[in-house]
Amino acid sequence: MDNACRTEIEQGIANALGSAPVALQWTPIGGGDINAAYRLTGERGSWFIKLNRAERLAMFEAEAEGLQAMAAADGPRVPAPLTWGVAGGRSYLVMEWIELRSRGDAAALGTQLAGLHGRTAERHGWHRDNTIGTTDQPNPPDHDWVRFYRDQRLRFQLELAGRNGLDQRLQARGEALAERMAAFFSGYTPVPSLLHGDLWTGNVGFDSAGQPVLYDPAVYFGDRESDIAMSELFGRLPAAAYEAYNAAWPLDAGYPVRRDLYQLYHVLNHANLFGGPYAGEALAMMDRLLAQV
Ligand code: ADP
Repeated sequence: MDNACRTEIEQGIANALGSAPVALQWTPIGGGDINAAYRLTGERGSWFIKLNRAERLAMFEAEAEGLQAMAAADGPRVPAPLTWGVAGGRSYLVMEWIELRSRGDAAALGTQLAGLHGRTAERHGWHRDNTIGTTDQPNPPDHDWVRFYRDQRLRFQLELAGRNGLDQRLQARGEALAERMAAFFSGYTPVPSLLHGDLWTGNVGFDSAGQPVLYDPAVYFGDRESDIAMSELFGRLPAAAYEAYNAAWPLDAGYPVRRDLYQLYHVLNHANLFGGPYAGEALAMMDRLLAQV
Protein backbone atom coordinates (compact mmCIF):
# COMPACT_ATOMS: atom_id res chain seq x y z
CA MET A 1 0.00 0.00 0.00
CA ASP A 2 1.66 3.21 -1.09
CA ASN A 3 1.07 6.46 0.75
CA ALA A 4 -0.77 8.16 -2.11
CA CYS A 5 -3.31 5.31 -2.19
CA ARG A 6 -3.81 5.49 1.58
CA THR A 7 -4.25 9.25 1.49
CA GLU A 8 -6.83 8.98 -1.29
CA ILE A 9 -8.82 6.39 0.66
CA GLU A 10 -8.59 8.47 3.84
CA GLN A 11 -9.99 11.37 1.82
CA GLY A 12 -12.84 9.13 0.63
CA ILE A 13 -13.64 8.14 4.21
CA ALA A 14 -13.57 11.79 5.33
CA ASN A 15 -15.96 12.69 2.49
CA ALA A 16 -18.33 9.91 3.51
CA LEU A 17 -18.22 11.06 7.12
CA GLY A 18 -18.50 14.74 6.16
CA SER A 19 -15.34 15.57 8.09
CA ALA A 20 -11.80 16.76 7.40
CA PRO A 21 -9.41 13.97 6.37
CA VAL A 22 -7.09 12.57 9.03
CA ALA A 23 -4.29 10.03 8.78
CA LEU A 24 -5.55 6.64 9.95
CA GLN A 25 -3.65 3.76 11.41
CA TRP A 26 -3.63 0.78 9.01
CA THR A 27 -3.36 -2.63 10.67
CA PRO A 28 -3.32 -5.69 8.37
CA ILE A 29 -5.98 -8.34 9.06
CA GLY A 30 -5.49 -11.97 8.05
CA GLY A 31 -8.15 -14.55 7.42
CA GLY A 32 -9.85 -13.39 4.21
CA ASP A 33 -9.87 -15.75 1.27
CA ILE A 34 -9.78 -13.21 -1.46
CA ASN A 35 -8.92 -9.69 -0.52
CA ALA A 36 -6.24 -7.78 1.37
CA ALA A 37 -7.85 -6.38 4.51
CA TYR A 38 -6.95 -3.83 7.18
CA ARG A 39 -8.38 -2.34 10.30
CA LEU A 40 -8.38 1.43 10.01
CA THR A 41 -8.29 3.36 13.25
CA GLY A 42 -8.66 7.09 13.78
CA GLU A 43 -10.11 9.57 16.22
CA ARG A 44 -13.62 9.08 14.88
CA GLY A 45 -13.67 5.31 15.07
CA SER A 46 -12.55 2.10 13.38
CA TRP A 47 -13.36 0.71 9.95
CA PHE A 48 -12.71 -2.49 8.06
CA ILE A 49 -11.31 -2.14 4.54
CA LYS A 50 -10.95 -4.77 1.82
CA LEU A 51 -8.81 -4.12 -1.25
CA ASN A 52 -8.45 -5.86 -4.57
CA ARG A 53 -7.48 -5.11 -8.15
CA ALA A 54 -9.20 -2.08 -9.70
CA GLU A 55 -11.23 -4.30 -12.09
CA ARG A 56 -12.98 -5.84 -9.09
CA LEU A 57 -14.81 -2.65 -8.11
CA ALA A 58 -18.17 -4.13 -9.21
CA MET A 59 -17.61 -6.97 -6.74
CA PHE A 60 -17.32 -4.47 -3.89
CA GLU A 61 -20.26 -2.38 -5.14
CA ALA A 62 -22.41 -5.51 -5.13
CA GLU A 63 -21.18 -6.46 -1.65
CA ALA A 64 -22.02 -2.97 -0.34
CA GLU A 65 -25.51 -3.18 -1.88
CA GLY A 66 -25.94 -6.65 -0.43
CA LEU A 67 -25.03 -5.44 3.05
CA GLN A 68 -27.52 -2.59 2.67
CA ALA A 69 -30.26 -4.99 1.59
CA MET A 70 -29.55 -7.22 4.57
CA ALA A 71 -29.47 -4.27 6.96
CA ALA A 72 -32.97 -3.31 5.79
CA ALA A 73 -34.34 -6.78 6.61
CA ASP A 74 -35.29 -8.10 10.01
CA GLY A 75 -32.16 -10.26 10.18
CA PRO A 76 -28.80 -10.47 11.94
CA ARG A 77 -26.56 -7.43 12.27
CA VAL A 78 -24.27 -6.75 9.31
CA PRO A 79 -21.41 -4.24 9.03
CA ALA A 80 -22.69 -0.96 7.58
CA PRO A 81 -20.84 -0.09 4.37
CA LEU A 82 -19.34 3.42 4.43
CA THR A 83 -17.67 4.05 1.07
CA TRP A 84 -16.12 2.23 -1.89
CA GLY A 85 -14.24 3.09 -5.06
CA VAL A 86 -10.87 2.92 -6.77
CA ALA A 87 -7.68 4.52 -5.42
CA GLY A 88 -4.13 4.11 -6.65
CA GLY A 89 -5.15 1.36 -9.07
CA ARG A 90 -6.94 -0.70 -6.40
CA SER A 91 -10.62 -1.12 -5.66
CA TYR A 92 -11.73 -0.94 -2.06
CA LEU A 93 -14.73 -1.23 0.23
CA VAL A 94 -14.78 0.43 3.65
CA MET A 95 -17.34 -0.66 6.23
CA GLU A 96 -18.04 -0.41 9.92
CA TRP A 97 -15.53 -2.29 12.09
CA ILE A 98 -17.22 -4.84 14.33
CA GLU A 99 -15.16 -6.58 16.98
CA LEU A 100 -15.98 -10.18 16.10
CA ARG A 101 -16.09 -13.17 18.41
CA SER A 102 -16.69 -16.80 17.66
CA ARG A 103 -19.27 -17.33 20.42
CA GLY A 104 -22.50 -15.59 21.28
CA ASP A 105 -26.26 -15.94 21.27
CA ALA A 106 -26.67 -18.89 18.89
CA ALA A 107 -30.43 -19.05 19.35
CA ALA A 108 -30.70 -15.40 18.30
CA LEU A 109 -28.68 -16.29 15.22
CA GLY A 110 -31.29 -18.88 14.22
CA THR A 111 -34.25 -16.62 14.92
CA GLN A 112 -32.69 -13.68 13.09
CA LEU A 113 -31.71 -15.84 10.14
CA ALA A 114 -35.37 -16.80 9.81
CA GLY A 115 -36.10 -13.06 9.97
CA LEU A 116 -33.68 -12.39 7.11
CA HIS A 117 -35.32 -15.13 5.07
CA GLY A 118 -38.70 -13.68 5.92
CA ARG A 119 -37.85 -10.72 3.67
CA THR A 120 -39.28 -11.96 0.39
CA ALA A 121 -39.55 -10.74 -3.20
CA GLU A 122 -41.77 -11.48 -6.20
CA ARG A 123 -39.02 -13.32 -8.05
CA HIS A 124 -35.82 -15.22 -7.39
CA GLY A 125 -32.56 -13.50 -8.33
CA TRP A 126 -31.68 -9.88 -7.67
CA HIS A 127 -31.60 -6.50 -9.40
CA ARG A 128 -27.92 -7.01 -10.21
CA ASP A 129 -25.33 -9.73 -10.66
CA ASN A 130 -22.68 -10.25 -8.00
CA THR A 131 -19.93 -12.74 -7.18
CA ILE A 132 -19.54 -15.89 -5.11
CA GLY A 133 -15.92 -15.81 -4.03
CA THR A 134 -14.50 -14.16 -7.13
CA THR A 135 -16.72 -16.18 -9.49
CA ASP A 136 -19.48 -14.28 -11.28
CA GLN A 137 -22.94 -15.02 -9.94
CA PRO A 138 -25.74 -14.11 -12.37
CA ASN A 139 -29.05 -13.08 -10.81
CA PRO A 140 -31.58 -12.43 -13.60
CA PRO A 141 -34.98 -12.40 -11.87
CA ASP A 142 -37.15 -15.47 -12.46
CA HIS A 143 -40.37 -16.58 -10.75
CA ASP A 144 -39.41 -20.23 -11.38
CA TRP A 145 -36.88 -21.36 -8.77
CA VAL A 146 -36.11 -24.73 -10.38
CA ARG A 147 -35.22 -23.04 -13.65
CA PHE A 148 -33.25 -20.31 -11.84
CA TYR A 149 -31.22 -22.75 -9.76
CA ARG A 150 -30.68 -25.10 -12.68
CA ASP A 151 -29.59 -22.48 -15.23
CA GLN A 152 -28.08 -19.64 -13.20
CA ARG A 153 -26.42 -21.72 -10.52
CA LEU A 154 -25.76 -25.33 -11.59
CA ARG A 155 -25.33 -24.93 -15.35
CA PHE A 156 -23.40 -21.69 -14.96
CA GLN A 157 -20.80 -23.46 -12.81
CA LEU A 158 -20.76 -26.49 -15.14
CA GLU A 159 -20.00 -24.29 -18.15
CA LEU A 160 -17.25 -22.61 -16.17
CA ALA A 161 -15.83 -26.02 -15.28
CA GLY A 162 -15.73 -26.79 -19.00
CA ARG A 163 -13.90 -23.55 -19.76
CA ASN A 164 -11.52 -24.21 -16.86
CA GLY A 165 -10.69 -27.64 -18.28
CA LEU A 166 -11.90 -29.56 -15.21
CA ASP A 167 -12.83 -33.27 -15.33
CA GLN A 168 -15.21 -33.65 -18.29
CA ARG A 169 -17.41 -36.09 -16.39
CA LEU A 170 -18.56 -33.11 -14.32
CA GLN A 171 -20.43 -31.63 -17.26
CA ALA A 172 -21.99 -34.91 -18.43
CA ARG A 173 -23.19 -35.91 -14.98
CA GLY A 174 -24.10 -32.36 -14.07
CA GLU A 175 -26.25 -32.07 -17.17
CA ALA A 176 -28.00 -35.36 -16.34
CA LEU A 177 -28.73 -33.92 -12.93
CA ALA A 178 -29.92 -30.61 -14.36
CA GLU A 179 -32.39 -32.46 -16.57
CA ARG A 180 -33.79 -34.42 -13.63
CA MET A 181 -33.67 -31.61 -11.12
CA ALA A 182 -37.41 -30.94 -11.02
CA ALA A 183 -37.85 -34.32 -9.25
CA PHE A 184 -36.24 -32.84 -6.13
CA PHE A 185 -38.97 -30.24 -5.93
CA SER A 186 -42.17 -32.24 -6.19
CA GLY A 187 -44.62 -30.75 -3.71
CA TYR A 188 -42.19 -27.98 -2.75
CA THR A 189 -42.26 -24.45 -4.18
CA PRO A 190 -39.93 -22.13 -2.27
CA VAL A 191 -40.70 -18.44 -1.86
CA PRO A 192 -37.95 -16.01 -2.94
CA SER A 193 -36.23 -15.22 0.38
CA LEU A 194 -33.44 -12.73 0.91
CA LEU A 195 -30.33 -14.89 1.23
CA HIS A 196 -26.87 -14.22 2.55
CA GLY A 197 -25.76 -16.45 -0.29
CA ASP A 198 -22.37 -17.53 1.09
CA LEU A 199 -23.35 -18.57 4.58
CA TRP A 200 -20.45 -20.79 5.58
CA THR A 201 -19.41 -20.63 9.22
CA GLY A 202 -16.43 -18.39 8.37
CA ASN A 203 -18.87 -15.61 7.45
CA VAL A 204 -20.76 -15.75 10.75
CA GLY A 205 -19.66 -14.23 14.06
CA PHE A 206 -20.92 -12.42 17.14
CA ASP A 207 -20.34 -8.86 18.30
CA SER A 208 -19.05 -7.86 21.74
CA ALA A 209 -22.62 -7.96 23.10
CA GLY A 210 -22.94 -11.56 21.88
CA GLN A 211 -25.34 -10.62 19.07
CA PRO A 212 -24.99 -12.45 15.72
CA VAL A 213 -23.18 -10.76 12.83
CA LEU A 214 -23.14 -11.89 9.20
CA TYR A 215 -20.62 -10.54 6.72
CA ASP A 216 -19.11 -11.17 3.26
CA PRO A 217 -22.48 -11.92 1.58
CA ALA A 218 -23.38 -12.91 -1.99
CA VAL A 219 -26.98 -11.69 -1.70
CA TYR A 220 -29.92 -12.69 -3.87
CA PHE A 221 -33.49 -13.90 -3.43
CA GLY A 222 -33.92 -17.65 -3.51
CA ASP A 223 -34.79 -20.79 -1.57
CA ARG A 224 -33.87 -20.26 2.09
CA GLU A 225 -32.83 -23.92 2.26
CA SER A 226 -29.77 -23.04 0.18
CA ASP A 227 -28.45 -20.75 2.94
CA ILE A 228 -29.06 -23.42 5.56
CA ALA A 229 -27.34 -26.00 3.31
CA MET A 230 -24.26 -23.78 2.92
CA SER A 231 -24.11 -23.33 6.71
CA GLU A 232 -23.69 -27.12 6.95
CA LEU A 233 -21.03 -27.52 4.26
CA PHE A 234 -17.78 -26.36 5.90
CA GLY A 235 -18.50 -26.94 9.58
CA ARG A 236 -21.88 -26.16 11.11
CA LEU A 237 -23.56 -23.42 13.10
CA PRO A 238 -24.21 -24.24 16.77
CA ALA A 239 -27.14 -26.68 17.25
CA ALA A 240 -29.11 -23.97 19.08
CA ALA A 241 -29.11 -21.87 15.89
CA TYR A 242 -30.83 -24.62 13.87
CA GLU A 243 -33.29 -25.31 16.68
CA ALA A 244 -34.28 -21.65 16.89
CA TYR A 245 -34.48 -21.37 13.09
CA ASN A 246 -36.82 -24.34 12.90
CA ALA A 247 -38.91 -23.01 15.75
CA ALA A 248 -39.30 -19.68 13.94
CA TRP A 249 -39.89 -21.13 10.46
CA PRO A 250 -39.69 -24.93 10.16
CA LEU A 251 -37.79 -26.38 7.23
CA ASP A 252 -39.64 -28.61 4.77
CA ALA A 253 -39.28 -32.38 5.28
CA GLY A 254 -37.53 -32.65 1.90
CA TYR A 255 -34.66 -30.38 2.94
CA PRO A 256 -32.06 -33.12 3.66
CA VAL A 257 -32.17 -34.31 0.03
CA ARG A 258 -32.05 -30.81 -1.44
CA ARG A 259 -29.20 -29.94 0.94
CA ASP A 260 -26.83 -31.95 -1.26
CA LEU A 261 -28.13 -30.25 -4.37
CA TYR A 262 -27.53 -26.83 -2.81
CA GLN A 263 -24.11 -27.73 -1.44
CA LEU A 264 -23.14 -28.94 -4.90
CA TYR A 265 -23.22 -25.35 -6.21
CA HIS A 266 -20.61 -24.27 -3.67
CA VAL A 267 -18.46 -27.37 -4.16
CA LEU A 268 -18.49 -26.75 -7.93
CA ASN A 269 -17.54 -23.14 -7.28
CA HIS A 270 -14.65 -24.32 -5.13
CA ALA A 271 -13.59 -26.69 -7.89
CA ASN A 272 -13.64 -23.75 -10.31
CA LEU A 273 -11.75 -21.47 -7.93
CA PHE A 274 -9.29 -23.88 -6.36
CA GLY A 275 -9.41 -27.09 -8.45
CA GLY A 276 -7.89 -30.08 -6.68
CA PRO A 277 -10.10 -32.50 -4.76
CA TYR A 278 -13.25 -30.38 -5.08
CA ALA A 279 -13.95 -31.73 -8.59
CA GLY A 280 -13.89 -35.31 -7.26
CA GLU A 281 -16.14 -34.30 -4.37
CA ALA A 282 -18.59 -32.70 -6.80
CA LEU A 283 -18.68 -35.89 -8.89
CA ALA A 284 -19.40 -38.00 -5.81
CA MET A 285 -22.19 -35.62 -4.79
CA MET A 286 -23.71 -35.80 -8.27
CA ASP A 287 -23.68 -39.60 -8.15
CA ARG A 288 -25.44 -39.59 -4.79
CA LEU A 289 -28.05 -37.16 -6.09
CA LEU A 290 -28.61 -39.01 -9.36
CA ALA A 291 -29.16 -42.22 -7.42
CA GLN A 292 -32.21 -40.58 -5.82
CA VAL A 293 -34.10 -39.48 -8.92
P1 ADP B 1 -12.87 -11.96 2.08
O1 ADP B 1 -13.90 -11.28 1.22
O2 ADP B 1 -11.48 -11.65 1.64
O3 ADP B 1 -13.14 -13.43 2.31
P2 ADP B 1 -14.07 -11.31 4.65
O4 ADP B 1 -15.14 -10.31 4.41
O5 ADP B 1 -14.50 -12.72 4.88
O6 ADP B 1 -12.97 -11.23 3.51
O7 ADP B 1 -13.21 -10.80 5.89
C1 ADP B 1 -12.02 -11.44 6.30
C2 ADP B 1 -11.99 -11.54 7.83
O8 ADP B 1 -12.01 -10.23 8.40
C3 ADP B 1 -13.23 -12.24 8.37
O9 ADP B 1 -13.03 -13.61 8.53
C4 ADP B 1 -13.46 -11.56 9.69
O10 ADP B 1 -12.75 -12.20 10.72
C5 ADP B 1 -12.88 -10.17 9.50
N1 ADP B 1 -13.95 -9.16 9.23
C6 ADP B 1 -14.78 -9.12 8.16
N2 ADP B 1 -15.58 -8.07 8.22
C7 ADP B 1 -15.26 -7.40 9.35
C8 ADP B 1 -15.74 -6.21 9.96
N3 ADP B 1 -16.70 -5.47 9.40
N4 ADP B 1 -15.18 -5.82 11.14
C9 ADP B 1 -14.18 -6.55 11.68
N5 ADP B 1 -13.68 -7.67 11.15
C10 ADP B 1 -14.20 -8.10 9.99
